[in-house]
Amino acid sequence: MKDVIIIGAGFSGLAAARILQAQNVSFSILEARDRIGGRVYTKRFENGKYLDFGGQWIGPGQDRMYELCSEYGVGYYDTYNEGKHILDLNGKIKKYKGLIPKLDIISLVNLDWVMRKLERMAKNIDCSKPWTHPKAAKWDEMTLQDFLYKNCISKTCMKVITLALETVFASKPHDISLLHALFYFKSGRDLNTLINIKDGAQQHRIEGGMQTLAEKIAAKFTDHIFFNHAVKEVEKTVDGFCVKGGDFQIQGKKVIIAIPPPLTREIQFAPKLSVTKMGLLQKLEMGKVGKCFMVYHKPFWRKGGFSGQAFADENSPFQSIFDSSPKNEEYGVILGFTIADRSVGFFQHDKKKRETLMLEKLVSYFGEQAADPVFYEDFTMTDEAWSKGCYAALYPKAIWIEYKNTLSESENSIIWAGTETSTEWFGYIEGAVRAGERAANEAIKTLI
Ligand SMILES: Cc1cc2nc3c(=O)[nH]c(=O)nc-3n(C[C@H](O)[C@H](O)[C@H](O)COP(=O)(O)OP(=O)(O)OC[C@H]3O[C@@H](n4cnc5c(N)ncnc54)[C@H](O)[C@@H]3O)c2cc1C
Repeated sequence: MKDVIIIGAGFSGLAAARILQAQNVSFSILEARDRIGGRVYTKRFENGKYLDFGGQWIGPGQDRMYELCSEYGVGYYDTYNEGKHILDLNGKIKKYKGLIPKLDIISLVNLDWVMRKLERMAKNIDCSKPWTHPKAAKWDEMTLQDFLYKNCISKTCMKVITLALETVFASKPHDISLLHALFYFKSGRDLNTLINIKDGAQQHRIEGGMQTLAEKIAAKFTDHIFFNHAVKEVEKTVDGFCVKGGDFQIQGKKVIIAIPPPLTREIQFAPKLSVTKMGLLQKLEMGKVGKCFMVYHKPFWRKGGFSGQAFADENSPFQSIFDSSPKNEEYGVILGFTIADRSVGFFQHDKKKRETLMLEKLVSYFGEQAADPVFYEDFTMTDEAWSKGCYAALYPKAIWIEYKNTLSESENSIIWAGTETSTEWFGYIEGAVRAGERAANEAIKTLI
């Protein structure tokens, strides 16, 4: 019998395993897919190029990620962030530099005011217990959209803040509780950090792709990982747990669950999870996002003075577009995020049409050179059985107040990990790592 069975080989499960191995605690990891990384997935092509289909950025404040990069000798580099950005709004394409888009004065003032108000409200949230804020009940009864309706007097301001928030959450503001949004900002420092490249959560890329780091971490315990092992049942036994799938069963003294919350509700537990835990799991859904990549011989837009960044209203399939090229301009990559209902519509088209739609946008932004890519690729985890969406599960209205920290609390001695159980950097890879480490330490404590 192993000391610990970890379910899920995403960053959270891998981070837990690292700690257990360092403490000589025996473990196995059961992973449904045929690869590690989960919501981190670097697709490598035969021509030597690679694209990060899942999580790709790290930034200041994500201390564990930088420490892991340093420990495993994984390099990182600056996200390209120089030159003119594009704002594609109300049928007009405008260029601007810096953080502030070119808007009419009323919209600019309104935008600044809304951003400051959100920052102010988030400031005093205690991320370990957001429901204790004096205004928590009021804010949890509202959606983020309700807040925007109340505070955006300018339509343009509403459009700009909406596309920025959709890019942050991979979801529509009306699907998120205002309290959850404020918690999310605070858990990742603040809203500006989450939006920005410089000094923000998008500051750095990992050399060779984010999965490189996952692979280096896993290299020391690859023989403990069982791929294509989708867990279907977790049964409590006299001396621990029996974890079962289609054609396997494995015994362990402790279990760490490190999978997205909507997937946990597909596992049968004996004894059953409490009504509270199951009730919460039933209410959490993942965001929806597709990443679309146009790959070029070189990042030609840089020579034209463009940053490669563009932000667009509903006239475009993409809320936001970034330069996602590898280090040293080996080749050029433009990455488009299609989010929520825009992604649903976009992925109803066949791939050729999706490529055409992206090309049209890029030519209108960066000129005719954009019409000559090496190839196009796109990917969404929304319909993937073992993710069911991205970036993370989000709390709709009235969940925090009713369920508090039910998600991360151990139950029937089962320990819960995954980015959604983290009070810091919820929804980010950093949050997954911190949650995995916390779960491993909880397991070690209870094994003694
Ligand atoms: C498109 C996209 C872009 C993103 N961008 C960023 C970014 O730039 N920066 C950032 O920090 N974060 C980003 N994120 C979020 C980040 O990737 C996740 O927060 C993080 O990877 C979650 O890690 P995790 O270990 O908690 O969960 P996961 O990565 O989801 O790992 C869970 C694992 O469990 C497995 N599993 C599921 N069910 C079962 C089962 N029944 N039995 C066995 N195994 C199972 C899954 O296959 C998976 O491998 C992005 C995510 C996506 C998808």
